Amino acid sequence: MIKLRNVSKFYYSKGVIAQGFSKLNVEFDIGEFVAITGESGSGKSTLLNVLAGLDTYEEGEMYINGRETSHYIEKNWEEYRKKYIGNIYQNFNLINSYTVYQNIDLILLLNNIPKKVRKERIMKLLKRVDMVKYKNTKVSKLSGGQKQRVAIARALAKDVPIILADEPTGSLDKKSAAGIITLLKEVSKDKLIIIVTHNYEQVENFVTRKIVMHDGKILEDQKLKPIEKKEEKVEVKIYKNINTFNKLRLGIRNTFNVLPKFILLLLVYSFIVCSLMAEYSFFKKWEYEQSKIGYNVVFHEKSDKRIILNKKDKTTFTDEEINTIRNLDNIKYVVENDLIVDYNYDFTDDKDIWFTSRISSYDNFEGNVDLGRIIENENEIILECSKDDYLLFQDPNELINRKIYLYDINTDNVDKRIEYTIVGLKYVKSDIYDAEYKMYVTNTVINRLQYNTTKRYSDVRIDFMGKYHNSSSSSSYFNLIPSDRIKESEAIIDEEFNNYCDKDNCINKQFNINIKNIYFDETYTLTIKDVYNEKTITNKLGINDFTKEDYPYKYSGSIFINTNDYNKLYNKKTYQMSVFVDNIDKLDETNEQLKSMGYKTLKIKDTLVEDFATKFIRIIKIIVTIILVVVLFFISYFVIRVILKSRNIYFSIIRMLGGNKKVCQDLLIIELLTITNISYFTFILVAELNRNKYFNINFINTINTYFKYNDYITLYIILIVMSSLICFRYSRKLFKASVMNTYREEV
Ligand code: ADP
Ligand code: MG
Repeated sequence: MIKLRNVSKFYYSKGVIAQGFSKLNVEFDIGEFVAITGESGSGKSTLLNVLAGLDTYEEGEMYINGRETSHYIEKNWEEYRKKYIGNIYQNFNLINSYTVYQNIDLILLLNNIPKKVRKERIMKLLKRVDMVKYKNTKVSKLSGGQKQRVAIARALAKDVPIILADEPTGSLDKKSAAGIITLLKEVSKDKLIIIVTHNYEQVENFVTRKIVMHDGKILEDQKLKPIEKKEEKVEVKIYKNINTFNKLRLGIRNTFNVLPKFILLLLVYSFIVCSLMAEYSFFKKWEYEQSKIGYNVVFHEKSDKRIILNKKDKTTFTDEEINTIRNLDNIKYVVENDLIVDYNYDFTDDKDIWFTSRISSYDNFEGNVDLGRIIENENEIILECSKDDYLLFQDPNELINRKIYLYDINTDNVDKRIEYTIVGLKYVKSDIYDAEYKMYVTNTVINRLQYNTTKRYSDVRIDFMGKYHNSSSSSSYFNLIPSDRIKESEAIIDEEFNNYCDKDNCINKQFNINIKNIYFDETYTLTIKDVYNEKTITNKLGINDFTKEDYPYKYSGSIFINTNDYNKLYNKKTYQMSVFVDNIDKLDETNEQLKSMGYKTLKIKDTLVEDFATKFIRIIKIIVTIILVVVLFFISYFVIRVILKSRNIYFSIIRMLGGNKKVCQDLLIIELLTITNISYFTFILVAELNRNKYFNINFINTINTYFKYNDYITLYIILIVMSSLICFRYSRKLFKASVMNTYREEV
């Protein structure tokens, strides 16, 4: 059955070679009950370990069932142990954190024996070793003798052809020892039993063979009784491997059953979860804030909540369309003709104050004023600015009720010197990039400014008798002035223009006004009905607000047209608008929705350009984040590995009991994944409670704000990958050495 030919075993430790045994020639057969004796250190335990396939040998040949084993790799030994060997160890090798029942159950579970069979067999064995009443006691609480009995019950639980027992009665009293030997004798009929003992008299009457060892050699080998059955080959039972359900059960049991280990691992994992999340979300926060800072030269209103909308066919939005958009989900407000939000207006009081500000409708004002009051009358203003803005004023109170007006050299007469009153101040948090003012005004003011803004952005060209004139060019300046005295599509011009026309007479001639801006390009034709000069202007147009000196500046070279015509030139329907979303998280969603409605969209975020420095800092930041994650990963990795080292014994025992590498790996991964999930989902729970204001932890708030669903998934994957990696590395290391070497590392 097992045959050794010149087999030697040496121990190498710290450069010293020790002999376990040398050049042994011995053969064992089924049916034998062998006693090995000899003084301490003679090599008995070493021989049992080699026979059990738990330790390697260095020299010679070992045959199992007639097959040579020198080519065996760990996998073959695993299989050999599983099929052939039952072990009783000198130091029991029970799992201390398991109960008596669980210890015996373990070996049966590893061989996938059905639950009912397991239970029956365990109870029978416990009865035989007289341990029934300790069934649910943890092994760590048992005495040496009791442990010995459990170890024996465990070795007998599985039906295997070879049982190797290293001093099985060493810690038992005489009577129990006799009982155990009888028990072993009973099962020995079709098995090979090898028992190492100091006390030969105890076993004398039972054994069929006696071997005496001395100094790693066999001194005496004496066959005492003939054996009944002698077969060269034995039939072995094929056991299945532990099933997934039981693996899960064991894995989860292992997670919790050594409490200090569980707590330690949980702490480490929670630390990883928290710090990975913190690092990642602080990076996202930084990135998000950077994304708002970028510059662009076209749009001044750089709120990341803004989307600019056009129609694909470049026509105006109908009222119905505007209303539909306004009523969409997540749309906070809509600015029609949105040039106004990008234009900077200069305001002054002609003395101390002069500043540039953007305009927004009072409808968009959020929260409350910090100083002064809200808007009650038409030309009142709330100014939004940074509190630390020392350029603007020394004492903010002095600003309240200040009268200011729009400073604009191009503003025409109509709008000149309308007074606005600052009634409230609103402070905003602002950094150096964002030091801009904003004014909230009534919608009447918005409309007025809207009109002027369009005008300012427009290019007006007059085609007068084949000659083109830009309204803005100074050399041939055509000043258009609205008048109620003129019918629609008609015009009254300065007498001076007459010489552009045939026979110096322009009456009833036509000319074109073309107006063009980024939205539209339109031409109107007007008929000249009359001419005026300084003398007739009062009579014909009712104008008398001039002196002889300023008449040329004010009215010479002008064209008077109907007020409605005049307004039509600039007061256009909406060609482009901006919408502002409520919830920034849903910006992309809203953008997609608008796109699907057929509009051309532009997220203001996408128009921002990073400067070189920001780009550089961003790259550094990304690198630092990656390094941090990697460092964190390895720190955790090593800490977990150190903790896992205490598991060496457990996994060695599983191997001694016939569990293979895969089983160990699976058990470990289940254990680590259980802890990963506990710490991960605890964190999610805490984050969720925090979100719902059960408590308020600042750092979790940041994570909540910047962590999106896919980030949670990414993090989860990182944790799972890390745990798996740790598990695979650990088990690879564990299985590189023989069982006994791994085991000894720990003992
Ligand atoms: P026994 O079981 O008969 O008391 P062992 O098989 O334990 O003897 O030991 C046989 C020899 O091998 C002894 O000389 C012992 O010192 C040596 N030995 C046993 N285990 C180791 C080990 N792990 N490292 C080094 N030497 C060992
Ligand atoms: Mg020994």
